[in-house]
Amino acid sequence: MQLSGGSPDVPCLTCGKRVYGLRWGTDCPECTARREARANRLAGRVALVATACMGLYVWFAVPAESGLGRVYGAIGVLVTYVLTRRIVSRIAMEYLPR
Ligand SMILES: [Zn+2]
Repeated sequence: MQLSGGSPDVPCLTCGKRVYGLRWGTDCPECTARREARANRLAGRVALVATACMGLYVWFAVPAESGLGRVYGAIGVLVTYVLTRRIVSRIAMEYLPR
């Protein structure tokens, strides 16, 4: 329902550009895309560090003659990368400064 006298275009929270159909307190599509790119870049770096740490841990903690142990360790390293990247990206979207 449209309030009488209300304007249907709402200012972007970051750049202030008025966009039709935008919800109050949200960013315009360009600002959202820019923010997502920054969050993904940060998440990629953090995930690489976490993956390297996990890889070192698996390399030293799992004996080479353990058979499937190294395979499961490698799977764990891959899962670490994917999960860390997703989690950091989501957190960065919330908390990165505008
Ligand atoms: Zn904007």
